[in-house]
Amino acid sequence: MTMVPKSVLAGVVPHNRLTFGEAEVEAVARTIRSGQWAQGPRVAELEGELARWAGVRHCVCVASGMAALRLALGALKISAGSSVLVPAYSCVALANACLFWGATPIPVEIEAGAWNLDANSCLDAIRQDQPEAVIAVNTFGCPVDLSFRQLSNVPVIEDCAHAFGMEVDGKPLGSRSEIGVLSFYATKLLGGGEGGAVLTNSAGIAEFVRSSRDYGEQGASAHRMNDKMNDLEAALVLAQLERLPEMIARREEIALRYIERLSSSSAAGNAFRLPDNTSRRIWYRFAVELRDANPDLVFESLREEGVDAARPITEWRPTGSPSCPVADKAYRNLLSLPLYPTLTEEEQEHVAQSLLRAVEEHGRA
Ligand SMILES: *Cc1c(COP(=O)(O)O)cnc(C)c1O
Repeated sequence: MTMVPKSVLAGVVPHNRLTFGEAEVEAVARTIRSGQWAQGPRVAELEGELARWAGVRHCVCVASGMAALRLALGALKISAGSSVLVPAYSCVALANACLFWGATPIPVEIEAGAWNLDANSCLDAIRQDQPEAVIAVNTFGCPVDLSFRQLSNVPVIEDCAHAFGMEVDGKPLGSRSEIGVLSFYATKLLGGGEGGAVLTNSAGIAEFVRSSRDYGEQGASAHRMNDKMNDLEAALVLAQLERLPEMIARREEIALRYIERLSSSSAAGNAFRLPDNTSRRIWYRFAVELRDANPDLVFESLREEGVDAARPITEWRPTGSPSCPVADKAYRNLLSLPLYPTLTEEEQEHVAQSLLRAVEEHGRA
């Protein structure tokens, strides 16, 4: 059984709602009573579980997804003057992690529908910019095409924050690149409040991250901050991991119902593009691309109906960045609908009807 936080039972369908039950409450309470709150046995247990899930030899938990990205880049010896390819449509955490080391994040065009790094554009950029690493993201839970790796040996950091638990070509996510990273921010697939992890088969990479997350009992260093995850967070993520298969199945059920509702209506017409449902994926976000309707007016209409939709990712690219028309369109026209295991059928029906009304009202002026 899951519980619904009282604060959100206010007639509004929120964009995010956490999924938890007595298991999470008990796990944290037990950890509090144990008197061991800092990084300790729960973090070690979580590292073992995540490594097992991902089918990799090493997992090192850290304070956030950002810390995981930053320390993963450090482990690859990214430094001032390095360039790193990142999807042009991505969380600013990727760019910031590169900037920390003095490296230049180079935005690469994405593909419409999956909204992931475009493999051909990535290959062109590898030839042109000679990057020292690529950060690829499984955006909204859609598997990113890493076929460029057959023609390049640039190391890949795969951001799995939106898709952990997914299998790609029979391999668990987190095991097909040099490094996999996770975020346990509260609203992610696995919530821990905050937290992150680095997954790898390389003992050297794991050791770099392990010794960098904690400055204790070591000499002075500009990169050894305090990037530790704590046992309270790890206890929460361990409880969430237990319900991951159930949460993934529930998310899929809801996503398929959105597709059915939104594609069967004549009002929808050509008004929007639904997310890719062709390959095996996880439904972390349900992002609809508005084609004709003014996105700001649609957001406003939805808000008036008590539906909290969101622009899923905020633009970060500096002016003068390489032109990436698909990414531009994604920042402008993608709208993310509420999608989480506790979304009720009534709430979902209300969201779908509100969206259909809004695009009808604001489409094709
Ligand atoms: C949330 C997120 C991050 C950053 O993780 P934090 O734990 O919030 O620092 C990085 N990449 C992706 C794809 C994310 O969704």
